[in-house]
Amino acid sequence: MLMLLDTYRHKGMRKGLVRLVHEKGIRDIKVLKALETVPRHFFFDKAFLEQAYQDKAFPIGEGQTISQPYTVAYQTELLEVELQDKVLEIGTGSGYQCSILLQLTPNVYTIEYNEVLFHKAQKQFQLMGLTPFTFLGDGSEGLPQHAPFTKILVTAGAPIIPKTLLRQLTLGGKLVIPVGDTGLQKMLRITRVGEDEFTKEEFDNFKFVPLLGKQGWK
Ligand code: SAM
Repeated sequence: MLMLLDTYRHKGMRKGLVRLVHEKGIRDIKVLKALETVPRHFFFDKAFLEQAYQDKAFPIGEGQTISQPYTVAYQTELLEVELQDKVLEIGTGSGYQCSILLQLTPNVYTIEYNEVLFHKAQKQFQLMGLTPFTFLGDGSEGLPQHAPFTKILVTAGAPIIPKTLLRQLTLGGKLVIPVGDTGLQKMLRITRVGEDEFTKEEFDNFKFVPLLGKQGWK
């Protein structure tokens, strides 16, 4: 059963998690604040309260996971979200990363491929009073009907940088995406600097569940 009670104990556990994520290298105050604000245990069954505040990924059903808090913070920091941004998240999953993004801007679009997780996340957003724009479908192709976006975040491991996503960035827009094989991916940040010009920065290695769909793993 979902537990929407945020007590001092939960807040204390969350502070501990934020301290740990800070020690691991996350420095953006806005990101740390967002992590401290969103009750991660809301996304867990009551029996797994302790796990909610460990710095670990955790199964959410359908063979998928809620990402490790450090990974969520790392990707969010790289995305450099500003209040006026229009953000697309690919891979809604539990809705936790989306809830973090919503602390930084109200304009969050999120797309999920798995129907069961999509409906579960929708219910979760409703319970928490959050209002992202939610979509069910193949996010490896982005969300062309709502493009362009100033920021795009992919929360599953991709085999390539999908060109369709690059085309949905505004000028100056950024895409954060883990790219590699199914075992290990390098975190990349792509910035659109011209109509057909992009810069690429490389960061640490991570292990994500695979991005499925047309531009993902078949
Ligand atoms: N951001 C999520 C969260 O906060 O819980 C965690 C994401 S989980 C690591 C990756 C998610 O990407 C899974 O829910 C999976 O179903 C979804 N996914 C995989 N391929 C996708 C695609 N082509 N389009 C949209 N979602 C996809």
